[in-house]
Amino acid sequence: MKKNIILMGPPGAGKGTLAKQLIALGYVHISTGDMFREAIKAGTELGKLADSYIKHGDLVPDQVTIGLVKERLSQDDCAKGFLLDGFPRTLPQAEALEVLTKEIARPIDAVINLDCEQKELVRRISGRRVCKNCGAPYHIDTMKPKVDGVCDICGGPLYQRNDDNEDALKVRLNHYVNETKPLLDFYEERGLLTSFDSLKGSAVTFDEIAKFLKS
Ligand SMILES: [Zn+2]
Repeated sequence: MKKNIILMGPPGAGKGTLAKQLIALGYVHISTGDMFREAIKAGTELGKLADSYIKHGDLVPDQVTIGLVKERLSQDDCAKGFLLDGFPRTLPQAEALEVLTKEIARPIDAVINLDCEQKELVRRISGRRVCKNCGAPYHIDTMKPKVDGVCDICGGPLYQRNDDNEDALKVRLNHYVNETKPLLDFYEERGLLTSFDSLKGSAVTFDEIAKFLKS
């Protein structure tokens, strides 16, 4: 049984769907965005520190983020297993995570890399549409509205988000590859990395991953 896992994958590979399926299996979902909001709300020392950066529009330094991750992963609910999403993003963060998970005796058991061909990612993301009124998501191939360009739920107009166009997406994907390649190598060297092909569709991929996590 693999308890403590990291989820990685490019935008559009279906990480959000997979995360929801894993939460249903009992994993505690840790995203750094939520973690910041919770720590700030709870008024912990690190939360206050993080807030002082966010308030000024600055990036939160690694040291603070890592402190927050340690604080969060030490909590009781994480004893049954956690799912890290969006962290680590850099090699220094991965190295720090390795140290802190040892310190709290909750080591990473597996890193799941949700893989997908660039061509398919472009097709998926550039076909996305969102309702201007209610925010309901659509896709021009896989989740068509009943009437072209009109929301099934509220009748509002559908539009394409600025950063979902093909050029912007290619920039995001290249950035993702450059950013994560060293991380994937880091976990590969430690024998923790397993890649799954998300081209098979979310149900098939989830079954494979669930089986893998139980082994
Ligand atoms: Zn709508």
